[in-house]
Amino acid sequence: MLRDLFHPYSRNPAPHPVQYDHLPEMEALERILAQGSPHLDVKVVQQVRTASSSAPPLPLYCIGLGNPSPDVPAMGFFGGVHGLERIGAEVVIAFLQSIVMRLQWDASLHQQLESVRLVFMPIVNPGGMWMGTRANPRGVDLMRNAPVEAIDRVPFLVGGQRISAGMPWYRGRAGEPMEAESQALCDVVSTELLKRPFSIALDCHSGFGVRDRIWFPYAHTRQPIAHLAEMQALKQIFEQTYTHHAYVFEPQSLQYLAHGDVWDHLYQQACSEPGRVFLPLTLEMGSWLWIKKNPRQMFSLKGIFNPLIEHRQQRVLRRHLSLLDFLARASCSHAVWTPASPTARARLHADALRDWYGS
Ligand SMILES: [Zn+2]
Repeated sequence: MLRDLFHPYSRNPAPHPVQYDHLPEMEALERILAQGSPHLDVKVVQQVRTASSSAPPLPLYCIGLGNPSPDVPAMGFFGGVHGLERIGAEVVIAFLQSIVMRLQWDASLHQQLESVRLVFMPIVNPGGMWMGTRANPRGVDLMRNAPVEAIDRVPFLVGGQRISAGMPWYRGRAGEPMEAESQALCDVVSTELLKRPFSIALDCHSGFGVRDRIWFPYAHTRQPIAHLAEMQALKQIFEQTYTHHAYVFEPQSLQYLAHGDVWDHLYQQACSEPGRVFLPLTLEMGSWLWIKKNPRQMFSLKGIFNPLIEHRQQRVLRRHLSLLDFLARASCSHAVWTPASPTARARLHADALRDWYGS
């Protein structure tokens, strides 16, 4: 499926293409990295073992491009944190592919990249994706694994549990370090995004919902974040730019609370430095949009989290590319749209409280 989608690469393979059983996303990614190599800083930040002792370890890639100076803003794209939700990784890979292709002809993109850093981690949980599980190969849910305790009540199991790695939403054992993949994600965000005065992150997931949602912290409490005004400003320019967009933009706490959310953890880390702005977003693509058109998918675990029919998959990929492009531009131009005066900031904060927190 992905081989067809990335057709130009199947005619232009990497010099030493590696075959990954059950992981066409990794093959597609490596073809794109070979194609874009003169412009990309590619690092393997971790090697992940699967449950199979004979299989080679899988690389956890981090790709950077654009201006590396810590003075410029950055935009980070993350996918594949949950191994079952392949479409999240595919959206990030499709966007990286379009950037790599445009690098060959688009002078305006080169101009943009002089004033922004783009960071990609398209497959954060390659072992889980290889195994077809939400969790990593050790059974830990990477979105429940950070050292953050929910303040308010979380839903049973879904909010994170320490009962068993054999059940979903397992947080890992209390007091143990984070999983290698979670730690690698945090290290990349700390060094590539949080060293800068302004950055945005988008982590692409899919869930059993009827709408596409863009979530921002917190997940561990219903309290608003300190940068509610900046979040409101971002939402406003998005709505002005894409009048007919279909996303629900909201704090995750409006849906459910959870322990161990890695973006809550990183946001709190970012707030330790006054003046730094870090806006983490999670895209939760609603799988019900695909299932209602093809109800047989209800009987397949993969189908609940991914659009199975190819043309539908291509439509899903296309639909979200403008969001990813918008965020890269918004990060680049943050000085123009973020509130400059205390009065403007207070007004946006009040609007956001009214829209999302009922006050
Ligand atoms: Zn997910």
